[in-house]
Amino acid sequence: MYKAKAYSVASAASQFASGTITRRETTERDVQIEILFCGICHSDLHTVRDEWHSVMPTTYPCVPGHEIVGRVTKAGTAVTNFKAGDLVGVGCMVDSDHTCPNCHDGLEQFCPGSTFTYNSPDKHLGGVTYGGYSESIVVDERFVLRVPTNLNLAGVAPLLCAGITTYSPIRRWGDIKGKKIGVVGLGGLGHMGVKFARAFGAHVVVFTTSPNKKEDAIRLGAHEVIISTNAAEMKKQAGTFNFILDTIAADHDINAYINMLGRDGNITLVGAPETPLQVSAFALLFGRKSLSGSLIGGIAETQEMLDFCAEHGITSDVEVIPIQKVNEAYERLVKSDVKYRFSIDMASLKTE
Ligand code: NAP
Ligand code: ZN
Repeated sequence: MYKAKAYSVASAASQFASGTITRRETTERDVQIEILFCGICHSDLHTVRDEWHSVMPTTYPCVPGHEIVGRVTKAGTAVTNFKAGDLVGVGCMVDSDHTCPNCHDGLEQFCPGSTFTYNSPDKHLGGVTYGGYSESIVVDERFVLRVPTNLNLAGVAPLLCAGITTYSPIRRWGDIKGKKIGVVGLGGLGHMGVKFARAFGAHVVVFTTSPNKKEDAIRLGAHEVIISTNAAEMKKQAGTFNFILDTIAADHDINAYINMLGRDGNITLVGAPETPLQVSAFALLFGRKSLSGSLIGGIAETQEMLDFCAEHGITSDVEVIPIQKVNEAYERLVKSDVKYRFSIDMASLKTE
């Protein structure tokens, strides 16, 4: 075991503070990673503030961070895919049971024994796992991804969660070429959804509550933008969408978006508001519409997504911050004031 510097919160009402955590020594299958960048996901904020208490209560101290890019500093004796010096990524999971049907199908995120990167029972050290707001992490090589070397690393980090969480449901929906696709909420997830939907050849429409994001939405790849608080704009395109990806982090009227779908259209939720949404049966019945959910993506699909991004030059649009600004960044995240992901430059932790 060794000590690593990290930023943690002591309770749901606390601010982040600098300190140290314990990491395990690399076992034979492990890779030790020096963390270079870590994205700030809204899930970090939900967890830190214990907003998902009824489903996944938070254990404190909590060190979030599951959009990790770093460099391998040590590899265990049985590690075959990585060596010291390699650029790698770690997303929302660091282990699973490797034997269940979900693991066999490459859907480790649904494994009942999966270990999430933070706030999950730690099989090695007891207590809970600690995430990427830290100088290093030790991970089973089966949950470590190869990171393309041709992309900006600060913008690659958010691909490990925001990227795969939007790539996976869009891929699963089918061939979206020429189809009308909506992305609701232009934040960390939403802006990646726009980039992927555009790259797959869809007609992309952004729904936003923030009129000041309109120009950016077009720059990021949207063909059209609807200000969702404008009833006339919503009405004009009602019933015309094939697929909508809903990334909203807070309570909202989902029926307003179901009404935008055409016959047999699907709306997939990736946003995870803390309170249940009220769904109108009639909104779904007329037009045989469906409502689904999607959770990140499996490890193989995450690698596929990273390789796709390397090929198409896709990264997240990031605002790079030192870790000392993390409390401020959280305040801005709540106000939907991030363009479009904060990425923490972990070199800033060395000065603590
Ligand atoms: P984010 O950067 O804060 O973006 C969320 C966007 O939703 C905001 O930028 C805003 O966009 C819109 N929004 C926020 N509050 C709203 C409200 N009250 N009404 C309408 N729109 C609102 O968050 P994120 O990191 O993209 O995460 C989004 C959600 O996905 C979070 O709940 C997160 O926990 C969840 N998540 C799920 C998964 C998964 O596997 N399913 C993975 C990662 C994250 P506009 O300004 O454009 O309106
Ligand atoms: Zn996330």
